[in-house]
Amino acid sequence: MTIKPYIITEKENLISLRRFFHKHPEASMEEFETALKIEEELDRLGIEHKRVGETGVYGLIRGNGQSDRKIVLRADIDALRMLDQKTEEYASSNVGFMHACGHDVHMTALLGAAEALKKLEGQLNGQVALFFQQGEEFGRGARIFINDGLLDGASRVLGIHVSPGVPVGQIAITKGPVNASVDHFKIRVTGKSAHVSTPHLGIDALYIASQIVVNLQGIVSRQVNPLDTVVVGIGLIKAGTAYNIIAEEAMMEGTTRCFSMKTREQTNKSITDIAMNVANSYGAEAEVIFEDFTSPLINDAGVCTEVAKVAQDIVGEENIITIEKSLGGDDFAEYLLSVPGVYAIIGTGNSNKPNTTSPLHSNKFDVDEDGILIAANLYADFALEQLR
Ligand SMILES: [Zn+2]
Ligand SMILES: [Zn+2]
Repeated sequence: MTIKPYIITEKENLISLRRFFHKHPEASMEEFETALKIEEELDRLGIEHKRVGETGVYGLIRGNGQSDRKIVLRADIDALRMLDQKTEEYASSNVGFMHACGHDVHMTALLGAAEALKKLEGQLNGQVALFFQQGEEFGRGARIFINDGLLDGASRVLGIHVSPGVPVGQIAITKGPVNASVDHFKIRVTGKSAHVSTPHLGIDALYIASQIVVNLQGIVSRQVNPLDTVVVGIGLIKAGTAYNIIAEEAMMEGTTRCFSMKTREQTNKSITDIAMNVANSYGAEAEVIFEDFTSPLINDAGVCTEVAKVAQDIVGEENIITIEKSLGGDDFAEYLLSVPGVYAIIGTGNSNKPNTTSPLHSNKFDVDEDGILIAANLYADFALEQLR
């Protein structure tokens, strides 16, 4: 299946490193031990590094000094607050936390690539920047790297994500939108309390909030082009204190998902407009607070061709696939706003190995560890090809 020999062939060390990370997961923005371990590995490899924010790590391989070209390779490093139900020896020892999104694989693969690239530094006509990024699950880390200027001057950025839905040995490279934008909003409606038997003396925040929930779905069905995909989802509503008191206050929380910046802006603005207008029409007040988690993730078509060419040499042309876009998000999207790049999906599913087809973010999630070597080679080969 392999067309040319892997640059990185040693997999036992990578597997034990991945198992170390898997056993010691840490929550988003609290990846302190993880960052120390990454720094320890970079020190061992003789790669210079610095902290980004509290728990991100930036490594730099300077190359042979012949060119200013800079290639960014990104791995996210955070885990999830959930219980690991696996029984394997490498299951989480940090109870209540779990690498259920495969970020342990991403950082291991990037360290594997870093080792190979450092050895070949004299051949690199340019720099390789290693982004070990914190806080992906809440869309926090990418902007810290960007605000520190670490993306400045980069010509390409490559990120990866494992997928249990893609068989190990395959790599998915999809042009255009891959992940949706993710925004979080809170709407607070303030009315006036009264006895429920005298509704004319109060302003019913609960009733108004219900109208807002219903009206917001009109954005999806009446305001957005039906060929465009949008989700407006409310997952939480709280109102009222007793059955016979008109609720003075109601609070809702929800999320929007879109595949274009234009639709994202329009959708988020409409939510504010509708909430305000519905509340005002009943004499109540509404406050809408948005928190931007991440932009839509859109792969650069030209870089997809470049990455696919490299990936073919690793897994064979027949194993390069495309996949349906997903309404999940990844703040890798923030890098793609200013630097052409690709978010490639590495298959780690294998129906013969327990738990490797369990979904991301599920309690028994695991990977076929052969995917680690494929990911490491993709990172390394892409950088080498770009800096030939
Ligand atoms: Zn995740
Ligand atoms: Zn993830």
